[in-house]
Amino acid sequence: MAADNEGFLYPQVNKNICIDCGLCEKVCNELHPFDKRKPLKTLAIINNNERIRLKSSSGGVFHILAEKTINERGVVFGARFDKNWQVVIDYTEDMEGIEAFMGSKYVQARIEDAYKNVKRFLHEGRQVLFSGTPCQIAGLHQYLHKPYENLLSVDFICHGTPSPKVWGMYLDEVIKEGQRINNIEFRNKLNGWKKFGFSINYNRDGESLSLLSPFDKDLYMNVFLKNVILRPSCYSCQARCGQSMSDITMADFWGINGIVPKMDDDKGTSLIFLNTEKGEAMLKLDKCRVSETSYEAVIPKNPACIHSPGINPMRTYFFQHLGSTPLLKLMKRCSKPTREERYRKLKSNIKTLINKALQTVHRGRGGENRA
Ligand SMILES: Cc1cc2nc3c(=O)[nH]c(=O)nc-3n(C[C@H](O)[C@H](O)[C@H](O)COP(=O)(O)OP(=O)(O)OC[C@H]3O[C@@H](n4cnc5c(N)ncnc54)[C@H](O)[C@@H]3O)c2cc1C
Repeated sequence: MAADNEGFLYPQVNKNICIDCGLCEKVCNELHPFDKRKPLKTLAIINNNERIRLKSSSGGVFHILAEKTINERGVVFGARFDKNWQVVIDYTEDMEGIEAFMGSKYVQARIEDAYKNVKRFLHEGRQVLFSGTPCQIAGLHQYLHKPYENLLSVDFICHGTPSPKVWGMYLDEVIKEGQRINNIEFRNKLNGWKKFGFSINYNRDGESLSLLSPFDKDLYMNVFLKNVILRPSCYSCQARCGQSMSDITMADFWGINGIVPKMDDDKGTSLIFLNTEKGEAMLKLDKCRVSETSYEAVIPKNPACIHSPGINPMRTYFFQHLGSTPLLKLMKRCSKPTREERYRKLKSNIKTLINKALQTVHRGRGGENRA
C-alpha cells in the first residue's frame, strides 16, 4: 500500500511477482459492490453504564458487543491510535485493549494485517468481532470470500474518512516541539453529546494541559464535516445502505428528541440497525435500555444512512495548496460556508425573524383582547 499526494493509501501491484490471476479485481468492492439491504430492526439504545456511555461517541453499544465477545474468549478488532496518533486497525483479546478502540477517530485507519489475522482466528474456531467503516467491512467480506458463523461484522453510518496526511500536519501545527500528547478525543461530551467537543490533552514542561473546542470551532473538524478532506471514494460510497454486509450498523441517533424523546438526555443515544439474525442474537439487552423504532422514521435526520457526502467545491484547491499555504489559513479559507450554505442560512434567519414578528403581533392582539 502506498500513499498518494493527498495521503490516502492505495494498493500497488508488484509486476515482477504478479501472476495475473485477476483475483484482486474480482474481490474489489468498488468494481463489484454487494446489494443494498434494509435492516430487520431499527433500535434506539443506551448503555446502562454511565462511564462507558460518556467515553463512547454515541450510546456505547460497541462496548456491549466487545464485552460479550471477550467473555466468550473471542477476539475483537477495532481502530486505535498508534504511537504517532495516526489510526490503525488492531485486535485485542482482553477488556483492557477495548478501551483503546472506544470513541470515533475521524481519520482513515490503516488495515495492515487485520484481514489476514481475522481469517486465522476464524479458522482456529474463535469468535471474532470486527468493527470498522462500511468499506472496511465490505472489503473484509470480499477478502474472506465466504460466510463464517463465528464472525460478527459491525460497521457504522459513515460520514466519510479524512486524509491521514492532513491529520498529521494538523497535529504538527497545534502541538509544538517539546510538547507530548496524552490523549485525543474527537467526541468529548463535557458540554453534551449534541454539541460535542474536540479535545487534545498534552504535556508541556511537566504540566498537563487541554485544548477543548466545540466541534464547529475546530478547523480540522470543519474541513472534515464540510467534506473537504475525505477520500475520493467516499463521495460515491459503494458500501452504505447495508451494502457492507455487516450484521449490525451503529450510529448516533440524531433527531432522537423528535422520535423517542424519553431516550434523549444529551449524553449519547445509539441508533442501531440489526441487519441479520446473528446481529440480533449478539446484543445483550440486560446491559442497556432499548426502544424499537422504524428505518423510515430515522432517515430524515440521518441522511448519511443513504447518501454519500457531496464533494466540497474547495476540495481540489485545498489539496493543490496543501504544503505551500500555511495549513490553518488554508483550512479556514476552505471551510468558509459555500454560496448555497449562506443562502440556506439567510433563508432560515428570515424565517425565524418572521416567526418572531408574528408571535409579537399575536401576543399584542391577545393583550388587547384581555385588556
Ligand atoms: C470516520 C467516522 C465517521 C462517522 N460518521 C458518522 C455519521 O455520519 N453518522 C453517524 O451517526 N455516525 C457516524 N460515525 C459513528 C459514530 O460516531 C460512532 O462511532 C458509532 O455510533 C459507535 O458508537 P458507540 O457509542 O457504540 O461506541 P464507540 O466507543 O464510540 O465506538 C467506536 C467504534 O468505532 C470504531 N472506529 C473508531 N474510529 C474508527 C476509524 N477511524 N476507522 C474505523 N473504525 C473506527 C472503533 O473501533 C469502535 O468500534 C462515524 C464514525 C467514524 C469513525
